[in-house]
Parts: sequence; C-alpha cells; structure tokens
Amino acid sequence: MTLAPPEQATRKYDLGFARWVRDNVQGGDKMSMCMQCGMCSGSCPIGTEMDQGPRKLFMMIRAGMKDEVFNSSTIWNCTSCYNCVVRCPRGVPVTYIIQDLAAKAVELGYVKDVENARFAKAFWWSAAKFGRTDERLVTTKYYLSGGLVDFFKKSMGNLKIALGMVKTKRMHIGMPHKIKDTKGLQAILAKAAEIDARKSKGGV
Ligand code: SF4
Ligand code: SF4
Repeated sequence: MTLAPPEQATRKYDLGFARWVRDNVQGGDKMSMCMQCGMCSGSCPIGTEMDQGPRKLFMMIRAGMKDEVFNSSTIWNCTSCYNCVVRCPRGVPVTYIIQDLAAKAVELGYVKDVENARFAKAFWWSAAKFGRTDERLVTTKYYLSGGLVDFFKKSMGNLKIALGMVKTKRMHIGMPHKIKDTKGLQAILAKAAEIDARKSKGGV
C-alpha cells in the first residue's frame, strides 16, 4: 500500500493511514497494543515542548490524521530517552515509532527544511565518519547548514559556552577522536544500508 504525497492528499482523514503505519513504520505493528493510558506522555521529559505527545499522536494515527501527524512537533522533539518505552504497560515501542515517523515525514516530502533534520544529518555524518560524534565538527557542520549568517549568529551566541567547555576540559581542541577501525564501521553501515534497501523493496 502506498501513501499519497501531501500535495495529492485531498481528504482530511486518511482511513488507511493506521494500516500504512502498521506495515511501513518501525514498531508500527505494535501500535494496536496501545490502550491510551497516557503513561508515555506523562513520563516524557520533553512533553512540554511537544504539541501532541505520544499518546495523542497514536490516537491521531488511528483517526487517520496523516497530515497533522507528519507535521507534528512531537516527532521532531523526541530525544530518544526511552522513558516511554520502559514505562509503557503494553510494550509499545513508542520511541521507534516516533523516530521512524520523522524519517518517513522527510521521505514523503512533508519536511523541506527542519532544523532538527539538519542537526541529525550533521550528527550522523560525524558518527559514520569517525565512529564518534565530535561536538565541534557536528556543531560547525550543523551551523553551516543554515547559511553563513546563521553560522555566525549561532557561533557567537554559543562562544562563551564553548570556551567554558574547553577551559573545564569538557571539549578537547586537538584532532577529532575516532575509533580504530573506521573502515570496518563503514563496511557495517554499507551492509546495513543494503539490507534496508532490500527490505524497502520487499525482498527480505
Ligand atoms: S504508555 Fe503505551 S499503552 Fe499507554 S498510551 Fe502510551 S503507548 Fe499507549
Ligand atoms: S523517547 Fe521521546 S517520546 Fe519517549 S519519553 Fe523520551 S522524549 Fe518522550
């Protein structure tokens, strides 16, 4: 089953959306276990920064509110702390569902330029290249992704914090730390991407 891109969506409620989430989103097959107890939203440390929170988001999926779900700040502000997963009495993998909904929002064209997505790209670049996340490189790449003016503004705004971190040895100033076998890591990541591509084509 394929999901219509946003510009082709004509109905406010997409009654096939919950089924699509079940079949296409990581952990989506467990969503039917949700009993709307609200433990996840009540345990979420970042709940005040979310427009819906996980419990309500899951109800919206059931109701077929596809556009509202993909445009929700909840999928972008989740920090993957796993509080909700640990406390959910029905074993719903809330974090996986939310994270994969964010990835699907990008794939489906709902998101053109979300700040969190730009940060995630910079984070992943460092993790894949060095096997570590070097905060200086991640920050520089992320700031630059918003253009030179944004880079300058954000760098100046955080300069004092950065200098404080260097002074207290919370941030080093030498070459980036990296794992010994970066080639081995990249081979693992390439294999994972290959398996993922095969899965998306329905070959696994
Ligand atoms: S804690 Fe689990 S069962 Fe309760 S609302 Fe959240 S996902 Fe649903
Ligand atoms: S994993 Fe995300 S949704 Fe779950 S409690 Fe943490 S921040 Fe909230």
